Amino acid sequence: MRTRRQAASVAASGTWRDPDGVRLPAGEVHAWTSGTNQTLCGLPLSRARLLRFPHVAWPDILPESGGSADRVQRVCPRCAAAMGRRRDERPWTRTDPRP
Ligand SMILES: [Zn+2]
Repeated sequence: MRTRRQAASVAASGTWRDPDGVRLPAGEVHAWTSGTNQTLCGLPLSRARLLRFPHVAWPDILPESGGSADRVQRVCPRCAAAMGRRRDERPWTRTDPRP
């Protein structure tokens, strides 16, 4: 069974429907893994009144990359840290050998 970090879905404090009728997250958004009852940062979904979006992948709600981020007002920083940044954002150094 694969449990890659990128497989996380989304839980959010609000919802709306896009023109196609797809339920999308709004408001404050947390990372959530399908099959668990709490967010990645430890909030219990029911007590925090968070809605689950098993069909929305975490990267989709990130303002810089997501296609489902239109109504997202806040991305939980602890969940974001837990998910890690995208691989292509890691710093790299150019090796520049002299001639
Ligand atoms: Zn969170």
